[in-house]
Amino acid sequence: MSSATPDRAADLKARLASVRRRISAAAAAAGRDEPSLIVVTKYFPASDAAVLAGLGVRDVGENKAQEAEAKAAELPGAGLNWHFIGQLQTNKAKSVVKYARAVHSVDRPGLIAALAKAMAAEDIRRREAGSAARVPLECYLQLDLRAQPEEAAGRGGAMPEDMLDLAAAVEQEPALRLKGLMAVAPLGEDPAAAFSRLQELSRELTSRYPAAGGISAGMSQDLETAVAYGATHLRIGSDILGPRPAVR
Ligand SMILES: *Cc1c(COP(=O)(O)O)cnc(C)c1O
Repeated sequence: MSSATPDRAADLKARLASVRRRISAAAAAAGRDEPSLIVVTKYFPASDAAVLAGLGVRDVGENKAQEAEAKAAELPGAGLNWHFIGQLQTNKAKSVVKYARAVHSVDRPGLIAALAKAMAAEDIRRREAGSAARVPLECYLQLDLRAQPEEAAGRGGAMPEDMLDLAAAVEQEPALRLKGLMAVAPLGEDPAAAFSRLQELSRELTSRYPAAGGISAGMSQDLETAVAYGATHLRIGSDILGPRPAVR
């Protein structure tokens, strides 16, 4: 693996510190504990994730199955927890369960079935290889928070009215652990209104599933708002890694 230049490492350190200060300030303003930080390393090389691991980052997020699997394979001993946060095709479930601690984009019954099946196959694979069993896969239900979801294409996620059916489907799979909800603030809408709806939905979910209190919400642009509305996991990319390359 190529390693990051000293300039790049210094840059990541400064940006990470600045985001950590923003999170602390937001948590203090809301009178609550600090949420977990997931640093979204998509589009950036494994060498950046290695630098971040050296700076104490434990959780990283990726949104493309191939890219994520390759990076996780490059950094086996870095002590990083990999969070899959992108739209996931069922035929990629097998790849994701090899390395991911959590999937934040669980949004349909077919994907839940595919993840459960992939976990069973992974269990056999590890047993045959004599490796340690893997822990259950943490699942966040991704919800579409748009006020008018029928208008234009969304950013993924299930309709809120399907939340409890999806939760029941995850709960009946022993290899999957229901952790909570995930959402992206809809474009062109006040994130406070969206995150407030998400917090309401989280209350509804935890009244049935008390262990599923996770709220994965908040990106570079809206992390303060997400903290104010109870986010437990922030997914921050560009304010730490820098602007994403436009074309790949
Ligand atoms: C890219 C991405 C993020 C991080 O967004 P930034 O604006 O770069 O902080 C968070 N969540 C999801 C689902 C993403 O795809």
